[in-house]
Amino acid sequence: MSTTTEQTGATTPAPQALTDAEERRRQREEARLIRTREAAARKNTASKDGQWAAGDRTPLNPNEEFKATSDPLEVRHRIETMYARWGFWSIPPSDLRGRFRWWGLYTQRRPGIDGGKTAVLEPHQLDDEYFMLRVRSDGGQLSVAQARAIAGISKDFGRDTADVSDRQNIQLHWIRIEDVPEIFRRVEEVGLFTTEACGDSPRVILGSPVAGVAKDELIDPTPQIQAIIERGIGNPEFSNLPRKFKSAISGTRIPDIVHEVQDIAFVAVEHPELGIGYDLWVGGGLSINPHLGVRLGAFVEPAKVPDVWAGVIGIFRDHGYRRLRTRARLKFLVKAWGAEKFREVLENDYLGWKLPDGPGPEVAKPGDRGDHVGIHEQKDGRYYIGAAPVAGRISGEKLAAIADIAEAAGSDRIRLTPLQKILILDVPEDKVSDVVNGLRALELEAQPGEFARNVMACTGIEYCKLAIVETKATAREVVKTLDDAFPTLDSPITVHVNGCPNSCARIQVADIGFKGQLVLDEESGEQVPGFQVHLGGRLGRGEDNDFGRKIRAHKVTQHGMPEYVERVTRNYLETRADGEQFAD
Ligand code: SF4
Repeated sequence: MSTTTEQTGATTPAPQALTDAEERRRQREEARLIRTREAAARKNTASKDGQWAAGDRTPLNPNEEFKATSDPLEVRHRIETMYARWGFWSIPPSDLRGRFRWWGLYTQRRPGIDGGKTAVLEPHQLDDEYFMLRVRSDGGQLSVAQARAIAGISKDFGRDTADVSDRQNIQLHWIRIEDVPEIFRRVEEVGLFTTEACGDSPRVILGSPVAGVAKDELIDPTPQIQAIIERGIGNPEFSNLPRKFKSAISGTRIPDIVHEVQDIAFVAVEHPELGIGYDLWVGGGLSINPHLGVRLGAFVEPAKVPDVWAGVIGIFRDHGYRRLRTRARLKFLVKAWGAEKFREVLENDYLGWKLPDGPGPEVAKPGDRGDHVGIHEQKDGRYYIGAAPVAGRISGEKLAAIADIAEAAGSDRIRLTPLQKILILDVPEDKVSDVVNGLRALELEAQPGEFARNVMACTGIEYCKLAIVETKATAREVVKTLDDAFPTLDSPITVHVNGCPNSCARIQVADIGFKGQLVLDEESGEQVPGFQVHLGGRLGRGEDNDFGRKIRAHKVTQHGMPEYVERVTRNYLETRADGEQFAD
């Protein structure tokens, strides 16, 4: 006997009695299916993404494991009592490539390893015995004594290296573990620190470099930056985050802290009833899957900034995705939840009170430039002077000389900017030309060509273990060639250079962004260091903000890059409409 299915007309055999062997097989199969269903049910009740708030505290990758084993901040004790005495080879990997970052220390790339080897070598094969050390300067603020202290460390222990990073820090290189305790002592003696300068922690807080002096300032955010530091930096409550957490706060009208690409940003606004305060942004970030921060539509009174900051970082700690490092930034949670839910969770579960609605910040007008390069009058009648080191590169010698210039002009305030520039504040009018000339003698130009002014570059292959391509010297070559070719360029073109597919130099928001990778050299037919090009990124334009487009066909070798920039610039100049900017 057989039955016929209605749809196909195919026949299926009628059920037959099973033999003993077949019955045993059936029972085994049924038991296996039950086990599989139960495992799936267990998995569904736990977080798929390793979110602590979902009850999933099991470490899901090696980074989560070492963080769970001991608070990364505790490594400071071992550095001072063990590793500095016993030397580099006494440091276990979980401290060396893990917890050291919480004190600003990264192993640097072993010299001589080319970019083609970056992805194929094991981390320990790329490690040099020396470290990069990042010194925090929240808000980019340095006194003369602090600049001198860093310069001294650079000269005594760092082979005279010093780079201004795009997060307003100074980075030193060639640091030996044996010297770290003395370096910590000198740094802390002048009120600086390296705590959580790197790692899955609250990183340096970006702040307007002209806080307290800008004529267009709505509010000086320095007290809020200090309050956040006191509340959150070095606090074990926030020292084990899913990944890094970038904060920024600005009180000026012209955007100068790239607030759209921070995990959290407070941007000054004037509320019609509540006065001056901040508009709250969350979830910005670049690198893989770039995401512009979103406004929560919430107004934050200045006194409430530390609470709101602690609430947002608390959400990140508890709900952030920890399973995959590539999904562990706050932007992924914000994308999944949306602004409305994020604000609801913040208010109900973390603050316990409602934030008032508030207005958004002003959008930059054509001609507004937030880099602070040049000579600018302050609100107190004195001047600040901003100079452009090419791609942030200075040295210990130069930093000491900058401190001398500031002091000679009667200033005790040096500032670093998120665009790798250096400012001296509080210069009396009769000292302005002394400062400008003094900086010029150091190749720090206050009236630079447009390319010198607008180029940024990350650390690159010189020291970074993830790099594929050299960046700083390449950027310098672009500046040299292009400022000679276009001495009277009347419209800024930003050029950002990364040594790998990450985005430390924010390539997706530049007019021309270069992402380091191996590319085919048509002449030799070989893979050589080069860049994928992104064109047309822009920030500070409100609704009009956008990431640069990856132009697949536009790949250039490292050596072909200056010529490429020249060609693209000429094309823009020849074809632009009236008032059209490069990114348009
Ligand atoms: Fe290193 Fe890549 Fe960041 Fe450049 S972008 S500093 S190469 S990780």
